[in-house]
Amino acid sequence: MPLMMFVYLLCGAIVGILANYMADVLPRHRRFTKPVCLECGENRPIEKFLTGKPCKHCGKKNAIRYWSVILATTMLSIASGFFPAGKMPFIAVEILLLIFSVMVITDIEFRVILEQVSWAGYVAAALTGWYINGFTKTILGGICGFLIFLGLYYLGKAFARRMSRNREVPVDEEALGFGDVNLAGVIGLLTGFPYVLPALLCAVILGGLASGVIIIVSIINKRYEAFQAIPYGPFIILGGILVLYFYH
Ligand SMILES: [Zn+2]
Repeated sequence: MPLMMFVYLLCGAIVGILANYMADVLPRHRRFTKPVCLECGENRPIEKFLTGKPCKHCGKKNAIRYWSVILATTMLSIASGFFPAGKMPFIAVEILLLIFSVMVITDIEFRVILEQVSWAGYVAAALTGWYINGFTKTILGGICGFLIFLGLYYLGKAFARRMSRNREVPVDEEALGFGDVNLAGVIGLLTGFPYVLPALLCAVILGGLASGVIIIVSIINKRYEAFQAIPYGPFIILGGILVLYFYH
């Protein structure tokens, strides 16, 4: 037990460092480069990156995000090591933890889920889903998740067009980005059919509740702006994980 605890802890910390690295370099260069500063794009020495020190060129502080990501992935690695969702193998847990962490960070920081990260997600989720649910359920789940969110995506676009026509101010914040559509496909592969349906329903409900809370808080603070988009990615992932625990 103590040995496994140490393995989960170590893997979680490594995943956290890698997630920080990928969420810094991928939005800038779309490929793996030396560690860079997300703000100014200057290279950062590896030891400065590994200790979460501020950028010496522009002064951007990195410590809070860096250490909170590592803390979160370490705790999630330990939790899912001892209680794996959907009887997932350990290696799949760690790889998916990395991919989902990068998605959550870039979604919160830029409201974007990068295409490359989505593709990695498709591959990892397809293999894991195949292992858990077999081939047919996995493929059906992926197609189902993708198509449902594609429908919601076009619905959101039509709604935004309508609203901007009425208000003469363009609504350019998309409620749902295409990254969310890909993520719904990834979660579909991972949970399989028909479990993808409660997973996405959970995501929509949780995301709706969070939007509601944000709107109420911003009305109280008198800073309400209609149509401010919240990052939906974390809720889609959460819906998938809840369903994996519940149905498998
Ligand atoms: Zn900088």
